Amino acid sequence: MSDLDNLYQELILDHGTCPRNYGRLDGNTVGQAEGINPLCGDKVTVYLRLEAGKVKDIQFEGRGCAISVASASLMTELFQGKTVTEVEELWLSFKAVLFTECVPAEKLGKVLALTGVKAFPTRVKCATLAWHAALSALKQQSLPAVSTE
Ligand code: ZN
Repeated sequence: MSDLDNLYQELILDHGTCPRNYGRLDGNTVGQAEGINPLCGDKVTVYLRLEAGKVKDIQFEGRGCAISVASASLMTELFQGKTVTEVEELWLSFKAVLFTECVPAEKLGKVLALTGVKAFPTRVKCATLAWHAALSALKQQSLPAVSTE
């Protein structure tokens, strides 16, 4: 096993057992969406708050396998402070890495630790679960707001 594989395994283990940004967000400005992966029994709810077009807060709750929890944890770290467009681009990059032969994009950072699941189609669902939930929470939040002008 290469050093990189070792590093990736450690990252998944670390974030899978000690997830970052874990917990729920409350308030009427919070978008939330739930993702369920019946194949594996993973369940995750992502909470997201936008401010001035950027992700101000993002947290998640749920339970599932190490891959699904690690992915949610790494994703929340990655999305923090990003604009809606950046989040959408990161999601496209992540999908490209998982579903095509596309060369992994640097900007995915630690999330690249998850690219090893590519070889296991059922695990890909675990790795993308929180991302689907985050994107739908984001859609709720980025709907045109009522103008106050
Ligand atoms: Zn899973």
